[in-house]
Amino acid sequence: MDFETLSIHSGFSSDPVNGATAVPIYNTVSYSYDSAAELARVFQARAPGYVYTRIANPTNSALENRLAVLDEGVGCIATASGMSAITAAMVALLRSGDHIVAAGGIFGGTVSLFDNTLSRFNIRTSFVDAAQPEQIEAAITEETRLIFLESIGNPRLDVPDFERINAIAEKAGLPLIVDNTVMTPAIFNPGRYGADIVVYSTSKFINGHGTAIGGAIIDTGNYDWKNGLFPDIAVRGERAGPMAFLSHLRNLIHRDLGGCAAPATSFAMLEGLGTLALRMDRHCHNARILAEYLQGHPSVKWINYPGLPKNRFYDASQKYFNGKAGALLTFSLGGIERAYRFIDALKIAKNLANIGDAKTLVIHPASTIFAEFSAAEREKMGIDDGMIRVSTGLENAGDIINDFKQAIEKSQKTQKK
Ligand SMILES: *Cc1c(COP(=O)(O)O)cnc(C)c1O
Repeated sequence: MDFETLSIHSGFSSDPVNGATAVPIYNTVSYSYDSAAELARVFQARAPGYVYTRIANPTNSALENRLAVLDEGVGCIATASGMSAITAAMVALLRSGDHIVAAGGIFGGTVSLFDNTLSRFNIRTSFVDAAQPEQIEAAITEETRLIFLESIGNPRLDVPDFERINAIAEKAGLPLIVDNTVMTPAIFNPGRYGADIVVYSTSKFINGHGTAIGGAIIDTGNYDWKNGLFPDIAVRGERAGPMAFLSHLRNLIHRDLGGCAAPATSFAMLEGLGTLALRMDRHCHNARILAEYLQGHPSVKWINYPGLPKNRFYDASQKYFNGKAGALLTFSLGGIERAYRFIDALKIAKNLANIGDAKTLVIHPASTIFAEFSAAEREKMGIDDGMIRVSTGLENAGDIINDFKQAIEKSQKTQKK
């Protein structure tokens, strides 16, 4: 079966008690057993069953099963947010003294997690230009334990050369972690290009409507956890086999960190998945039309959309994303004042810190998401002061263009006191 069918039917078919076709929301903390011996067996993972929702929950399981199918993985753990997914994956793999090689130009929250928070535990990160895989290779040291990429970096919109980077990761024996939030499994399966772990913020396109926060971690089954780099995970493999990493995560790290998904949220994510393929087609279509419009507009200083033939990542986006280049684009009208006037004049697009909503969203990254970084750091991350980030929504493309057109016109009128 193909993605559209699996996104609607996989992971859950119908509720065994009443036949409900939508997944029941199991709003329960814990699960009772008739005998002490039975609970003990489930506790010790000698029998299947649920114990406590922080560790596992039937509604969350339905989402996890579906996400694992959609990314062709061995399993999945749903989490409270995208950040909690990334944090749990990092804590599961890293110890004090370890080193991360990460793509530059990625999500600000992830940069801060690596640079500000994990650094407090003596975990160092080198940010490199993922468009130049040789920089990744050069940054690897004895201490490196993983390589971290985004499928399209948010907001620099770099498309990594997955094949070359995976070859580097394989040669070094390192797991390759890909945050696939921006492309989603409807467009891209990182595991097909060698990624070992895929992480998501499901708050974005998977939810699709800006109504719930969630995340997910998927093991694609590509990595050999017995290769000596992660001995505590390898030990799990003796009982859990290919589920070694996810067992280590669920029964230790995720359990201890406590960032579990809320069952009602998992319900919303499952609903979102059912229309994901349809929505991503429309998101990409609208983004391309808007990008073409902005490219031809005399007031636009620059436009960055990997789906435009002039873009330096056009070939990569064609190769890896089957001609779709996502919903995100960035552009500049020149400087922060113009950007502010443009944003203030928009009538349809919302000015807010999110992506992946049915609504078109804009933000001025330099003074919001990246305000905590210095001007020099922002420059390194590719955050220009005039940059406006757009997450193109599902509205009529003509209406979006008309909204941008009138706002660009207004942004040019200098306000005389
Ligand atoms: C939003 C986002 C995250 C963080 O997800 P939350 O659900 O907000 O915690 C991580 N990575 C990317 C690419 C994102 O866009």
